[in-house]
Amino acid sequence: MRQPLVAGNWKMNGSAASIDTLMAGIKQGLAEVKQAAVAVCPPYVYIAKVADLAKGTKLAVGAQDINDQESGAHTGEVSGPMLKDVGCRYVIVGHSERRAIYGESDDDTARKFAAARKFGLTPILCVGELLEEREQGITEDVVNRQLDAVIKLEGIKAIGEAVIAYEPVWAIGTGKTASPQQAQDVHAFIRAKLAKLDKAVADKVQILYGGSVKGSNAVELFGMPDIDGGLIGGASLTADEFLAICRAPN
Ligand code: PEP
Repeated sequence: MRQPLVAGNWKMNGSAASIDTLMAGIKQGLAEVKQAAVAVCPPYVYIAKVADLAKGTKLAVGAQDINDQESGAHTGEVSGPMLKDVGCRYVIVGHSERRAIYGESDDDTARKFAAARKFGLTPILCVGELLEEREQGITEDVVNRQLDAVIKLEGIKAIGEAVIAYEPVWAIGTGKTASPQQAQDVHAFIRAKLAKLDKAVADKVQILYGGSVKGSNAVELFGMPDIDGGLIGGASLTADEFLAICRAPN
């Protein structure tokens, strides 16, 4: 049985003061979250603060990105050992905003995935198609290509020690959620693809859905057989809304 995971991606939002309020709200409601594991991914500069505030709770902390090198002359970058040092358990790799705005390729994402694992972090690997790719009927090809880059570099077993997030790009931050069946179809495709390579990995890996998840649609989405929770952007910035999503698997 896979434990559901709900991970909040705060993106480039928040301040020390707003994060104090958000964390107080989340911590207050955590006891009512019975089934799901919960994580939040703050901007780099607030990770240590959030990790400190999360101490003694079930809330895990993650980062939104990672450099693939251990240390050195990489101005502005943050490494895996640093993330581990400040209390991260997870790191998001290959988010569609990294791919689209910062030009990160499938191979860049695969190297970041490898670095996360090397330094003891659990990668949350984001995959998903653009609207025009869905309209062209090539969603599965895109997801296949994104997964294959990682499998080629790290092997199938590594996927079993990671989390996958299927995030159709047209549903991210747009208010347009994939229908539970649309999401389930791609999740089932991913799991079947992995099963061909290693059944145990396919059975074990958590596949999250991301794209305009809200308290009002989470129960239906997370109720699908291959959806094991969510990666949550906008709705993770409000404690009540985020907690409603976290309680969806209850
Ligand atoms: C995301 O950025 O990973 C995401 C799913 O955002 P939103 O929930 O705002 O669509």
